[in-house]
Amino acid sequence: MDLKKLASRLIPDENLPSLEDCEKAYPPRKLKEGAEVTRLAPSPTGFIHLGNLYSALADERTAHTTGGVFYLRIEDTDEKRKVEGAVESVIRSLKYFGVNFDEGAEIDGENAYGPYYQRRRAPIYRAFAKDLIERGLAYPCFCTEEELDETRRIQTEKKEVTGYYGEYAKCRNLTEEQIYAALDSGKPFVIRLKSQGDVNVKHTFRDAIKGSITVTENNQDVVILKSDGIPTYHFAHAIDDHFMRTTLVIRGEEWLSSLPIHIELFKVLSFELPRYGHTCSLMKVDNGTKRKLSKRKDPELSLDFYRAAGYYPQAVIRYLMTILNSNFEEWAAKNPTADYKQFPFSVSKMGKSGALFDLDKLNDVSRDELSKLSPEEMFAFLKGWADEFGTEKDRAHFENADYIIKILALIMGAGAKKKRKDIVRAEQGVRLMDYFFDDTFAPEYSYRADNETVNKMLEGFAALYDENDDNSAWFAKLKQAAAGAGFAAENAEYKLNPEAYKGNVSDAAEIVRIAVTGSPNSPDLCTVMGILGKERSIARLNSAKR
Ligand code: GLU
Repeated sequence: MDLKKLASRLIPDENLPSLEDCEKAYPPRKLKEGAEVTRLAPSPTGFIHLGNLYSALADERTAHTTGGVFYLRIEDTDEKRKVEGAVESVIRSLKYFGVNFDEGAEIDGENAYGPYYQRRRAPIYRAFAKDLIERGLAYPCFCTEEELDETRRIQTEKKEVTGYYGEYAKCRNLTEEQIYAALDSGKPFVIRLKSQGDVNVKHTFRDAIKGSITVTENNQDVVILKSDGIPTYHFAHAIDDHFMRTTLVIRGEEWLSSLPIHIELFKVLSFELPRYGHTCSLMKVDNGTKRKLSKRKDPELSLDFYRAAGYYPQAVIRYLMTILNSNFEEWAAKNPTADYKQFPFSVSKMGKSGALFDLDKLNDVSRDELSKLSPEEMFAFLKGWADEFGTEKDRAHFENADYIIKILALIMGAGAKKKRKDIVRAEQGVRLMDYFFDDTFAPEYSYRADNETVNKMLEGFAALYDENDDNSAWFAKLKQAAAGAGFAAENAEYKLNPEAYKGNVSDAAEIVRIAVTGSPNSPDLCTVMGILGKERSIARLNSAKR
């Protein structure tokens, strides 16, 4: 058979690049020894999940700890699954978590190894498919969906492996006449690999994450170009990872079963096989059993969940680091102030099977991370959340940066020995500040003292309050007002004769605290009143009377 003629008939494009041109256009990268080139290769389906971030972080750390390159490639060969805005959403989501690409993320721009959208690389795939046909390593298949279904049915019935191989590969040995007759009659066709593999042959393969594994040779004549001339994932990824000079492919373990196909494709294409690392799935414990995180059942699988819920991005990343490399936690404990980027990340230390993702643990990391922020950093984080997910009032409050930073310094315990360690998410932080604003101050005046005592205490303290008093002067006046309202000014006195008083000083302070903050618990009241200002503080004391 004249294979050159056949190839031209099947792929008639005249302006395809030559294979040498492709090699020249995408030369090996000039990087230092040991530098890894990694990529994230999502399909633009609009759902970016924790597994993507987990892989992306492994990719990004691997590239950037070795002086390599981390790029984004959009695997958009399946038009049906494409969702508008999905690419922007991947880039924005990862950026939020501090995971940035070196190449491929500029929507309009292209870097040296682009285009990074597979649909724009069609001539390259077609050139290589044409070459395989010319070399007798690929052929046209005219089987219809119904015929393939029927084959699958027979194989299932006989309990045989399903697929297009061996005697089931009907179009593999079509004669020249049969092929041209089918083409002349306008039958649609796909291009299949003419597999040279033998399933009785097994090889040992070194997976960068899973270690030594056994792979069986491929014997499936997989589709490489679909009937619309667009490549399948198998074919496109092989060509792209070669020409984008990927050194390490990190991808989900669901691709492990396709590895034999990929090994054969690289072989027939005469490309050097990159290293592969297959990541384990993220699991959770549900009712005592471990299961994979599911899109349907677990909102925490979606990356949008963390943004909307107001998780601090660094906390999510640091928690993922603890799952990625089991020695991260120990390192972080030894280097409490170090950036996670200083950690010597290694793919070989990644878990081989089911990584447990536990929201409670994430919350612990989050508390810890947020407690380390300065009031200014906390302000920036909370404002970011409020701008996107907060109420209109929240957004208005955040206009006043100085005021909020003062509040944050107080509620986070900045400068104090013991820092506040209970804020897990942005929303909680924002709500903690509500009482500092009149439009969100929603007090419940539930006093333990009788109304007359409450009023006496509040009036007495309002009359004495001076915003220029320091903490001890403030307290002295509180005692004075307490005595005037029937409380014991000194605890010792109260202890000697509790019956003679309405209560002790802290009972008196509680009345003022409820009046000013709406709650019996608050940070240092003198400072709270200082931040609120005299006018607002006095107004609150007055309106809290019963
Ligand atoms: N487009 C594939 C996916 O989204 C990429 C797999 C890979 O990383 O090679 O699953």
